[in-house]
Amino acid sequence: MSDHPITVLGAGIVGICTALALVEKGHAVRVIDRKAPGQETSFGNAGVISPWSVVPQAMPGVWKQIPNLMFGTYKPLSVRAQSWPRMLRWGLTFLRRGTEEQARATSDAMSVLCAPSIDLYRRYLTDAGAARLVKDAMYVHAFRDGSNVTLSSLDYTIRREKGADLELIGADALRALEPALSHDFQAAVLVKGQARATAPEQICQVLAQHAAALGVEFERDAIQSLSKDGADWVIRCEAQTFRAASVVIALGAWSRDVLRPLGVTVPLMAERGYHVEYPLPQIDIANSVMDTDAKVVASAMEGGVRVAGQAEFAPLDAPEDPRKSARLRRIAKAMFPDLDTEGEKTWMGRRPSFPDSLPALGQIGHHEGLFANFGHCHYGLMMAPKSGQIIASCVSGRPPNEDIRRMNPMRFAT
Ligand SMILES: Cc1cc2nc3c(=O)[nH]c(=O)nc-3n(C[C@H](O)[C@H](O)[C@H](O)COP(=O)(O)OP(=O)(O)OC[C@H]3O[C@@H](n4cnc5c(N)ncnc54)[C@H](O)[C@@H]3O)c2cc1C
Repeated sequence: MSDHPITVLGAGIVGICTALALVEKGHAVRVIDRKAPGQETSFGNAGVISPWSVVPQAMPGVWKQIPNLMFGTYKPLSVRAQSWPRMLRWGLTFLRRGTEEQARATSDAMSVLCAPSIDLYRRYLTDAGAARLVKDAMYVHAFRDGSNVTLSSLDYTIRREKGADLELIGADALRALEPALSHDFQAAVLVKGQARATAPEQICQVLAQHAAALGVEFERDAIQSLSKDGADWVIRCEAQTFRAASVVIALGAWSRDVLRPLGVTVPLMAERGYHVEYPLPQIDIANSVMDTDAKVVASAMEGGVRVAGQAEFAPLDAPEDPRKSARLRRIAKAMFPDLDTEGEKTWMGRRPSFPDSLPALGQIGHHEGLFANFGHCHYGLMMAPKSGQIIASCVSGRPPNEDIRRMNPMRFAT
């Protein structure tokens, strides 16, 4: 048995929650990241933590919406020219998942990871003395045209079947709930019983400090390669080389690169999203509010009002597109006409996205001691605590109680 610590690659929210779950099981744990904890995708998300975000992106009929998503008024979806070759394959796999049967099966798997998220965050954050960073909230799905909204659509049906408490409200009730929201919105579906992070980046920092206090070692270094030497995995970094009997890959959108030299290919794309944040907004928002046309989510964070969205498939290192932030600013003003945009901060992050909205979770093929915990798409904040616990069971050699077969890292291998 190797006496090297179990090594988690990546200190985003997924890597941090993995380290916490492992140290709670009594393991010696090391985390390697080139940056301080939580400085990439986990920094700037929309903060939605929900047991009911269990509807995959690939739903029946999604193909009909693509032209509007790419070329309509709000253009939430775009693909950079260099990404089209990989996108075509990814997109075909995505579209093939768009049947009711597949959506329901995927939803069951998503539910495994999402259902306990609020309770797990509350426990971790209370232990870390920062319970304030997660607040009870509803998800307000706001519609400009409320005439066709029904709770019997498949996505709301799936949520209700899983136990979500939903309510369809009209313009007056919406006004009373979120007074700052534009009167253009005529109806909303309230998804009750959720929570929201008031500072996702601080959650990462606080939980990393908590993990360090429990004994997790954090190393700041850029990982260059991973290889096997006898029973050990060898992690070559820019400054140092580390050895470990077990490695968990939690490098988010960068996970694919470290696996390719081992002959493992996964259809993981960087689905970039943006946010704009306003430190002195002069308005308040009580819940997570989604503009269902523009596909953006607004929320009041500790740093101000944050409006997050856009799905831009692009190479990992492509520069930010300032037109996306400008678009988000226009959408933010359209949603909240009294919003003060002075002091705007902009941000871009890379969702690690598989075509089926599920992460890769578990041992990677025949590579003993090598585990995947990456690819959490739009749901990484909420899925991180439970996927950390599940992978900690796998690493400990105890099969998890939950059915994680749909998240097999090799599920796309042909
Ligand atoms: C606009 C937007 C809104 C979102 N809203 C929500 C939401 O409301 N709720 C939700 O649940 N999810 C949301 N998400 C998704 C969520 O943010 C991601 O799924 C999650 O942050 C992924 O976490 P991660 O730890 O896997 O990746 P990351 O946070 O990206 O962490 C990966 C880490 O790997 C490190 N790394 C990479 N390569 C190397 C290397 N070679 N050497 C060393 N370190 C390396 C990076 O520095 C980084 O710290 C949103 C995402 C976006 C973009």
